[in-house]
Amino acid sequence: MRSNTYKEKILEILEKNHLMAIADVQANIPDSDFSTIFRNITQLCAEGVVRKITVDKNTTLYEMKTHKNPHDHFVCDDCGHVDSVKVPEFSLQGKAFAKDVLVRGVCNDCVEKI
Ligand SMILES: [Zn+2]
Ligand SMILES: [Zn+2]
Repeated sequence: MRSNTYKEKILEILEKNHLMAIADVQANIPDSDFSTIFRNITQLCAEGVVRKITVDKNTTLYEMKTHKNPHDHFVCDDCGHVDSVKVPEFSLQGKAFAKDVLVRGVCNDCVEKI
């Protein structure tokens, strides 16, 4: 498969699924290997089409940047569940080029277990 075909496949998958690990994307593309998917996703990030969310040092997730309604993410430190959240606009000194907020905490299910 040509590199472009991989990119099209990756975008097709991310279009349908919110937040995916590379292994999940790879599982949806027959006869692909991890490094090919990694290389193509990294290129899509550089092209500004895909957004990378670093949840922790072992978990990196990807989503379409054009994903309907812009949002940020909340991650539960206990179970790793990731939710979409709206972080309110804030004032800042200077000019922002990108907003990528990751809110950490404990989700409702895990709060009940404490
Ligand atoms: Zn949780
Ligand atoms: Zn998202």
